[in-house]
Amino acid sequence: PVPAVRPLIAGNWKMNGLKDSVAELDAMLKGAAELPQGIDLLVCPPATLVASFAARVAEAQAGKALPFSIGGQDCHANASGAHTGDIAAEMLADAGAAAIIVGHSERRADHAENDAIVRAKAQAVWRAGLVAIVCVGETQGERDAGHTLDVVAGMLAGSLPDGATAANLVVAYEPVWAIGTGRTPTAADVEEVHGFIRKTLSDRFGAAGETMRILYGGSVKPSNARELLAVPHVNGALIGGASLKASDFLAIAAGC
Ligand code: PGA
Repeated sequence: PVPAVRPLIAGNWKMNGLKDSVAELDAMLKGAAELPQGIDLLVCPPATLVASFAARVAEAQAGKALPFSIGGQDCHANASGAHTGDIAAEMLADAGAAAIIVGHSERRADHAENDAIVRAKAQAVWRAGLVAIVCVGETQGERDAGHTLDVVAGMLAGSLPDGATAANLVVAYEPVWAIGTGRTPTAADVEEVHGFIRKTLSDRFGAAGETMRILYGGSVKPSNARELLAVPHVNGALIGGASLKASDFLAIAAGC
């Protein structure tokens, strides 16, 4: 039997959001209170909004059990130093982040981040006491060539540090060709890759690997969320475009 894993619905706002986007966060917080129990929600706004959003979430949580947190989208591997423009995991933790995405395909492509860099960043996230959301996924060319599982295996082996637990690691499977394109793999394809990731995690991390969350990401929207979230070993979603609107984000979460 597949062990029950608490789902996580995570929003990646990418380079979107200004101060007035707090209205969208407020709508999410309001709607989150009405969702069925047992779903964790996370919003990763740009770094400029992490502190104010985290404070807003804390206010909304006063006296209530509202499983909602704020995260970062990337961090530097070091804790401090001469790295102009970079942000340390410790800084995001200090601003109120609970998790940080590392190794997103846009970081890998735009900033030449390889698996070794991603692994160092994941370790930095843990050093700061936060949850690392590590992204992996094949390109269209790799899928067409039939290399999807080999590519994912290589990325997992290279990007995940030793010492992962179900509490400090979330893996996001995001086929690069599905990100922002409106195209998604079939449920059967998602099942194949998520089953493979589950086996890889339990082979490497033992019992912890059985309950680590594996998110699907890439063109998740309200109309396809229910089907994708029902796939075995899909323990939630990492959502880009559709996480910018509270109504879409909440509708996706309602599909858990
Ligand atoms: P998308 O992005 O939902 O806009 O496809 C997903 C992601 O990049 O995490």
